[in-house]
Amino acid sequence: MRIRYFLPIALTAFAATVPVIKWKTGDRSRPLPAMVTPGEPSTEQHAGTAPSDAVQLFNGKDLSGWQQRNGKPAAWTVGDGYFEVKLGTGDLVTKQAFGDCQLHVEWATPAHPHGTDQEPGNSGVYLQSLYEIQVLESNRNKTYADGQAGAIYCQYPPLVNPARPPGEWQTYDIIFHAPRFADRKLAEPATVTLLFNGVLAQDHTVLTGPTDYMHRPPYKVTPAKLPLLLQDHGQPVRYRNIWIRELQ
Ligand code: MG
Repeated sequence: MRIRYFLPIALTAFAATVPVIKWKTGDRSRPLPAMVTPGEPSTEQHAGTAPSDAVQLFNGKDLSGWQQRNGKPAAWTVGDGYFEVKLGTGDLVTKQAFGDCQLHVEWATPAHPHGTDQEPGNSGVYLQSLYEIQVLESNRNKTYADGQAGAIYCQYPPLVNPARPPGEWQTYDIIFHAPRFADRKLAEPATVTLLFNGVLAQDHTVLTGPTDYMHRPPYKVTPAKLPLLLQDHGQPVRYRNIWIRELQ
């Protein structure tokens, strides 16, 4: 008799929480999703376009949405439909700040990148200027697992390595949820999902804190929205067709 009472209680204690949907099935009073015109995909020669509800962070012509991290005007080089790290000018940040988002970035390492390990084609996409998704030549070049392209730098390697050869355009499609803070403490850590050239490389990865070199520091309380940052790591990496959709 004892067992018969114990078992249901134990099962209830560990039951998963299933969401309750307040709408009836097929409920015609339920609001319909907003219409969005999708963007055109890129080809090797031409950059694609952004979905109709995205903030376009590079229009192919100028860096009006960006500035240097030190507040000076954007100094990176703009080419035909792309822009490139201008060595020694420092990191580039968006003028606008973002929280939870869907972010599309296209990048290319130099066709003949120099150096080894952490040198060839090194740059980085820093969500909220704090959490780096590594950009690196990782098709031929070998480095440590959590330092290659598609890694959350110094935290998590990509699940697989779909890197294209040097000089070819590559895509990052990122879903980012910013950390939440309550009472000056971490309430929910940040998460990143990354499709790298269309292949799942980070699957709702829970970040340990901000990116640091060979170090995993804890979270510090930060504003809900912060600029996106692209890293100047002394390599002429190119970017194009960058757009972002803020998530509600
Ligand atoms: Mg980097």
